[in-house]
Amino acid sequence: MTLKPEEVSWVIGNEIEKYEERSELESVGRVIQVGDGIARIWGLDDVMMSELLEFPNGTLGMVLNLAVDHVGAVLLGSEQGIKEHDVVKRTNKIISVPVGEALLGRVVNALGEPIDGKGKIETNHFRPLEARAPNVVERQPVNEPIQTGVKAIDAMIPIGKGQRELIIGDRQTGKTTLILDTIINQKDKDVACIYVAIGQKNSTIAKMVAILEKHDAMKYTTIIAAPASDPAALQYIAPYAGVNMGEYFMYNGKHAICFYDDLTKHAQAYRQMALLLKRPPGREAYPGDIFYLHSRLLERSAKLNDELGGGSLTGIPVVETQANDVATYIPTNVISITDGQIYLESDLFYAGIRPAINVGISASRVGGKAQTKAMKKVAGSLRLDLAQYRELAAFAQFGAELEETTLAQLRRGERMVEILKQDKFNPYPLEKQVVTIYVGSRGYLDDIPVASVRKFEEEFYHFVEKEYPDIPKTIANTLDLDPEIMKELDDAVTQFKKKYDFST
Ligand code: ATP
Ligand code: MG
Repeated sequence: MTLKPEEVSWVIGNEIEKYEERSELESVGRVIQVGDGIARIWGLDDVMMSELLEFPNGTLGMVLNLAVDHVGAVLLGSEQGIKEHDVVKRTNKIISVPVGEALLGRVVNALGEPIDGKGKIETNHFRPLEARAPNVVERQPVNEPIQTGVKAIDAMIPIGKGQRELIIGDRQTGKTTLILDTIINQKDKDVACIYVAIGQKNSTIAKMVAILEKHDAMKYTTIIAAPASDPAALQYIAPYAGVNMGEYFMYNGKHAICFYDDLTKHAQAYRQMALLLKRPPGREAYPGDIFYLHSRLLERSAKLNDELGGGSLTGIPVVETQANDVATYIPTNVISITDGQIYLESDLFYAGIRPAINVGISASRVGGKAQTKAMKKVAGSLRLDLAQYRELAAFAQFGAELEETTLAQLRRGERMVEILKQDKFNPYPLEKQVVTIYVGSRGYLDDIPVASVRKFEEEFYHFVEKEYPDIPKTIANTLDLDPEIMKELDDAVTQFKKKYDFST
């Protein structure tokens, strides 16, 4: 048989076309096994880590394991309709989430898709889930306060813009309430709030949204909901979606706070996925990279230098403990990553000390530099009064006979504890905090019965607002407490005490 030249070129051309077909086939895989939110896929030799895959029912998956003979992926949606031998396609894309102002006021899922029924989110900005944290040169020291509006925190555990402060405590100790207070207090302060709810009940999230709406705080807030009913994969990516939405503001020279409520459940979702993907379990059955999981998230909180716009992203993670045990794996990890901790305790909560913050062991390692002068002036003696009180209170329980100075210290301490109590969803502006703490630490409350202290505090502030309006105004404007204002305050207390009798 002889071949004509044109036939030869046709055959070769055909082969070349087929060759391309073959190589295309290679980037399609087939499901070997599916279940528990995980799929194992054969083929896909050239797939990237964290790449999105498309299953025939439209569900997306994310590559998390690159094994020698297969690829492990977690499903970001329903596994219904996916079966063995189904074709899986590469998308050549890494997960990214929409970011920008358009997300404020919205409730979205971990992929940034709206779930509040308020329609499409119009934004042109997207950011890949994982990104590099700002390096040392790109940062500057934390130097501006975030006002939480909670007296105990702003006075003694101050948080700065760009800081990472952990809220840690057992269940039902008021962790989420502290976050809500902080969000409510950011009204008109030009700080975007991003709240990531991980592994919570849908009803709890709905209640939160209702509270924020009632306080007119949704305008500057985004809620990312990855409830317990969502696949583990969505709970795993939710905080990374949140950090991206916060970073958008930071890189545009603005300020944002990201709350991760809570990282214990986040770690559990990751553990579930890792075990199903047959990664080797380590301590408490968590995979070896669990520390990296949280450090690469929290490392992205920063205060950028002025060349980069001076924006900031503050990170407030929450960790739930069991029976106040902070020595377990996840708490120790996150404590070591953050710049300070707020410890909440059920004993205090049940004793009526709310917020149930144990101020003796709570700390903020950078916030002091970011405190206003006014607060610094009144908070110094507060810390001392409380520390002395804690030492003595243990003794006093034995009913020993005490000296007059000791009794005086106890009296003062009891009243300061009272002063630091605060109702939920009732954040105090700086000037109100300063006035209140000043009155207590100057001893003006020592002759007021403990039970009347809070009433005194509330009514005295009303009195000041009405009769001495300069005092709060000057503190709010100068952020300082100069001797003249102190004198005026002294005068105000004396007048107030003359007018009203609180001694019974
Ligand atoms: P969980 O572990 O379930 O997430 P949590 O630690 O986040 O709980 P919250 O839900 O904030 O705790 O609060 C538990 C309960 O205590 C709520 O009913 C809340 O209203 C109440 N509570 C919290 N803080 C205060 C406060 N300062 N004054 C009065 N009640 C409070
Ligand atoms: Mg909570």
